[in-house]
Parts: sequence; structure tokens; C-alpha cells
Amino acid sequence: MSRILIVEDEPRIASFLEKGLQAHGFITTHTEDGEGGIALALGGKFDLLILDLGLPDRDGMTVLEALRGQGFAKPIILLTARDDLHDKVTGLEAGADDYVTKPFRFEELLARIRARLRSLQTSSELAKTTLTVGSVVLDLMTRQVQASGQVVELSAREFILTETFMRHAGQVLSREQLLDLAWGYGYDPGSNIVDVYVGYLRKKLGSDCIETVRGMGYRMVLTEAINVAAS
Ligand code: CA
Repeated sequence: MSRILIVEDEPRIASFLEKGLQAHGFITTHTEDGEGGIALALGGKFDLLILDLGLPDRDGMTVLEALRGQGFAKPIILLTARDDLHDKVTGLEAGADDYVTKPFRFEELLARIRARLRSLQTSSELAKTTLTVGSVVLDLMTRQVQASGQVVELSAREFILTETFMRHAGQVLSREQLLDLAWGYGYDPGSNIVDVYVGYLRKKLGSDCIETVRGMGYRMVLTEAINVAAS
């Protein structure tokens, strides 16, 4: 399981990141300032660092430079609120591996994290990338989904919603949790978009794979032990 350190001072974004990453099988640690981030990164066993550039105590860019200067070799992905090419170029030159500009979609950051971690993995680890719940098999690398032995075509959103359900198989997820996990922050909780997409998944994966729990939300039916081999 991969460990991710998040250095981000905005509580809403930090919590959104932690929830989303934990839901996708990562172990997260969060700190809100640069000094704490440097200490944790140098002292801890992290596989990847997510670093906000606008921190209260010091500029994220100097945190990046300090870490690379002290031999921190793990991937660093920058979060920048500034759509500023200069920051991005400077960040990459200072040793960042990638960046995401706020506001960003969770799945975009997730894809970048996976790409960075994948380049570190050995081939044996690469093979362990499938989730299986009942007759549904999802491959995180090829992004292929099969249901009852048939390949199913899913949109990007359907894929991430399916993955979310599979990682929480047997557990009831409220519409609000599903919005947070599969859509990201800022969606109107009164919207019926979750219900619409659950309808799509039932058509594609099988009508009884996701059940409605009245007044609470939805649950992926756990018919066999979940096999979470990826992280
Ligand atoms: Ca900030």
C-alpha cells in the first residue's frame, strides 16, 4: 500500500484529498505547513508527496528545494492555485515531477499519482492491479472492466464510480459520500446525478450488483471476498 504525504493548508482541500485517496487504498498523512512537511518527508516512509505551493509559513517552492537539496528522492506533485506558467516551469526545474492546478478534478490528480507510482513499481507489483467483487473485475492499469466474463465499456466517470463501489463493497455509501469520492468537491448535494449514474452501472454491470438502501444510499453487493491487490 502506498503512503502519501499531503502538505496543504486549506482544510477543505486537505480533507477532500485524504478522503479520496483513502477510498482508493492509499495511506495518507496530512500537515498544513511547510516546516512540518519537510520534517515528515525526511523522517517518514512516504512513497509520494503532494505539495501545495501557497503555504502559510513558507513558499511551497522553497519546501521543494529544501527537500530535493536534502536528498528526498520520492515523486513530488505540486498543487498550485496559480495558473502561472512560471511557477510550473520553476517547480519542474526545482525537482517536482508533476503539478495540478486548482481547482482540479480528483480523478486527474489520482491519474497523475498512479502514473508516478507506477514508474517506481516492479513488474511483479504491476501485475497486482485488479479488483474483483462478485462477477465484476476491474483492472486499474488497463482500465478494463468485465462483468460476468464480458468486457464492459465505461465512461471515465462510470469507471471511477465503479472503482469507488468496489473498494467499499458491502458498505452503504450515501449520495453525498459518492459525490465526494467520485465527483469531487463543489457538487450540489441536491443533484440526482448519483442516481442517474447508478442506473447506468446497473445496466452495464448487472441490475443486482448495486442495491438501494432506502433512506441511506447505495451498496455494492458483496457476493465474494473482495480482492484488493492494488494500492
Ligand atoms: Ca494554500
